[in-house]
Amino acid sequence: MSKYVYLFNEGKADMKSLLGGKGANLAEMTNIGLPVPPGMTITTDTCREYYKADRKLPEGMKEQVRNNLTQIEAATGKKFGDAANPLLVSVRSGAVFSMPGMMDTILNLGLNEATAKGLAENTNNLRFAYDAYRRFIQMFSDVVLEIPKHSFEHLLADQKEAQGVTFDQDLTAESLRVVIDNYKALVLKESGHPFPEDPMEQLFMAVEAVFRSWNNDRAIIYRNLNKIDHDLGTAVNIQSMVFGNMGNDCGTGVAFTRNPSTGEKKLYGEYLTNAQGEDVVAGIRTPQPIAKLQAEMPEIFDQFVKTAEKLENHYRNMQDIEFTVEKGKLYMLQTRNGKRTAQAAIKVAHDMVQEGLISKTEALLMVEPGQLDQLLHRQIDSSAKLNVLATGLPASPGAASGSVVFDADDAERLGKAGQKVMLVRMETTPDDIHGIIVAQGILTSRGGMTSHAAVVARGMGKPCVCGCEALKVDYNNKQFTVGNVVIKEGDHISIDGATGRVILGDVPMKDPELSAEYLAVLDWADEFKRLDVRANADTPEDALKAREFGATGIGLTRTEHMFMAQDRLPFVQQMILAETLEERQQALSHLLPMQESDFYGILKAMEGYPVCIRLLDPPLHEFLPSQEELLVETTVLKTRGDNAELLAQKEELLKQVRKLHEFNPMLGHRGCRLGITYPEVYEMQMRAIFNAAARLTKEGFKVLPEVEIPLTISKAEMSFFKVRIDRIAKEVMSEFGVNFHYTSGTMIELPRAALLADELAEDAEFFSFGTNDLTQTCLGFSRDDAEGKFLPHYLESKILKENPFVVLDRQGVGKLMEIAVAGGRKTRPNIVTGICGEHGGEPSSVEFCHQIGLDFVSCSPYRVPIARLAAAQAAVSNGENLGTR
Ligand code: PEP
Ligand code: MG
Repeated sequence: MSKYVYLFNEGKADMKSLLGGKGANLAEMTNIGLPVPPGMTITTDTCREYYKADRKLPEGMKEQVRNNLTQIEAATGKKFGDAANPLLVSVRSGAVFSMPGMMDTILNLGLNEATAKGLAENTNNLRFAYDAYRRFIQMFSDVVLEIPKHSFEHLLADQKEAQGVTFDQDLTAESLRVVIDNYKALVLKESGHPFPEDPMEQLFMAVEAVFRSWNNDRAIIYRNLNKIDHDLGTAVNIQSMVFGNMGNDCGTGVAFTRNPSTGEKKLYGEYLTNAQGEDVVAGIRTPQPIAKLQAEMPEIFDQFVKTAEKLENHYRNMQDIEFTVEKGKLYMLQTRNGKRTAQAAIKVAHDMVQEGLISKTEALLMVEPGQLDQLLHRQIDSSAKLNVLATGLPASPGAASGSVVFDADDAERLGKAGQKVMLVRMETTPDDIHGIIVAQGILTSRGGMTSHAAVVARGMGKPCVCGCEALKVDYNNKQFTVGNVVIKEGDHISIDGATGRVILGDVPMKDPELSAEYLAVLDWADEFKRLDVRANADTPEDALKAREFGATGIGLTRTEHMFMAQDRLPFVQQMILAETLEERQQALSHLLPMQESDFYGILKAMEGYPVCIRLLDPPLHEFLPSQEELLVETTVLKTRGDNAELLAQKEELLKQVRKLHEFNPMLGHRGCRLGITYPEVYEMQMRAIFNAAARLTKEGFKVLPEVEIPLTISKAEMSFFKVRIDRIAKEVMSEFGVNFHYTSGTMIELPRAALLADELAEDAEFFSFGTNDLTQTCLGFSRDDAEGKFLPHYLESKILKENPFVVLDRQGVGKLMEIAVAGGRKTRPNIVTGICGEHGGEPSSVEFCHQIGLDFVSCSPYRVPIARLAAAQAAVSNGENLGTR
């Protein structure tokens, strides 16, 4: 029979896919001798079988759980369901990838009237036993019986009011007894059944609830967002209870071995004295910083510090640890690699190398490339005068402004309509996830640095301030107050997630400054990567930005953007409307010096590095007004009848627009088709490039222009342009009396070009994969239409795993690329190959480019650091550089 259940001492850290992250780490901690309350894990396989069998627990699983319970009973000296000495357990979900808040934990399972009495007698504390019991009924009913939590909270609040007390802990045993009876009555009314008394029945109901929670809405949203496979399933952890709420020598807490926001090497976390389990993470009471534990329980603190160090050294990574202190004894309840901001990820990776704990290659693999984006986020301009309303906890860095909303549904609605919203809540729960996703930032009045809002925001790289207690949130009136300042829904506020400040109104932002650690880690990336990382840039400013971020070349300059500028458009239109070659050349003569100065600026900014300049690509109608616009204008002019000259001009323009109209412009008169029909346009651009190169060479700059022909399909086309490029280069060099190196090559954007790459390479010295178009033409999907129409269905029904416009389709587009690289190399062994489509800055696509041996990837300047790190990770994980310390 399959083994469905593992005792903690039977597992280990590398069994994550079977035991889930939590289960594997509990096993590992048990095996390295840490104080972990004994328990067992039901495997993720069991969850998959449960779904396969149409939601039935597999045969034999219950038997295995019962057998393991006997062993846990032996280890703890307590008995499950025993009235005299009851063993109580917690039941938690534990997926392979941590999914914060997928299912709330159930604590104190095993309590019923008899065992509650036993617990009271053993602890000599009736109040404690009743409190544990009422919490259990509440958690179990919420999670397993799906009776809303707030119904129970109302009953509790009613009792507090009746007794005239403010805090839960002030309720007496007698009052709690009343609460328990009321809870039970509620359960009977809502579910039609009495609350289950049999501990074994409670246990298996809870196990099933964990499996069901795998497919609840918030879990599905979280997995979609984080691209976690829906088929993985979750494990279930059943662990003997320890109590942090048995008095003031008890407590419970969460701590990171380093600061998850900044990466600073200092124990960072919070705890609550005399509290149970989820009180800290749930954000219901604002906890104490961990440093205070040193004063309150010095011995426990010392032991905790040592344990934290041991765990960090053992896992060679920053840990996120949950612990409980029961009657002066420390227990470890969980450890996992801590989620961290990009800033912290960089600092931790960097510092651990300095400390000799990990190698540079391990450090490179420790930072997620996509995260680097966060560091490039804007911050509040420090010179700005701010109207600071309040200060909360700096939970997730970055600054954001937006209009206040108090509800996740409102946030989602307004956010999707394009408004910048700031989600303000007392605390967030996993049910708010859809609002958090669209919000610019999150602000909560309660909860600590490890509250739900903080953890989720950090994971998403979203600014968050939490535990801002000065805020009095009033959901009913949709407002919050700070002192006598009232902020209503729709008012604008800003938050600074790095300092915790909450500011009235929008604030000026500025670009970030990059830390020394960041620069060092990216230097290591450069040491290990094989791919060159270039940038796509159309202006000298973008080129400079790209260099600042570490680009070593320009992989694509789109020249059409230069045609759109207001001072050029009239000449571009004149060129398009020209009836004769002379007229066209007249217009081009105005454009030549303008283009020349563009190229001069970019080549100069990229001195010493290659700059790939693509000749005009889009269809000409893009430079003319739209047909609809012209129709309106001519109709108005006709009705007014007062400007015949303008009307004639507009009618002429309309005629041209109609003439240029294409049914499918994506496959129309564009790319080098334009250069074939109007060679003089491409020749003007070639001359502008070479004039700029010649001038710079004369001024002593080293330039490396690459002239690129878009959308070719044959060698014949390439040859047509190659003779012109070479002729014009020769003319310009002799005119200026200089020599400079240049190359000519082509984009590979059409399947035919990829298939005939060997022929193209006779004239092309480089290939650059335009994977935006290559994806469109290989899959036959028009990007503009697909993403808004059928692509989401393809992704939902898993016909496609990823959006092929975001993550390169290795199977199809990738195969064409491989064919092209092989063909190109056959003809020209040292042909330079690269990618300049959007995929050039996406980590998985960069990995593929590394694997097929391209020379460079090129992406927008802000993604250059991501591409550098992804390129290094590809090199390192290929085994090329592993083992270097
Ligand atoms: C491409 O097609 O991948 C490309 C870079 O060109 P553009 O996006 O300008 O069509
Ligand atoms: Mg293209």
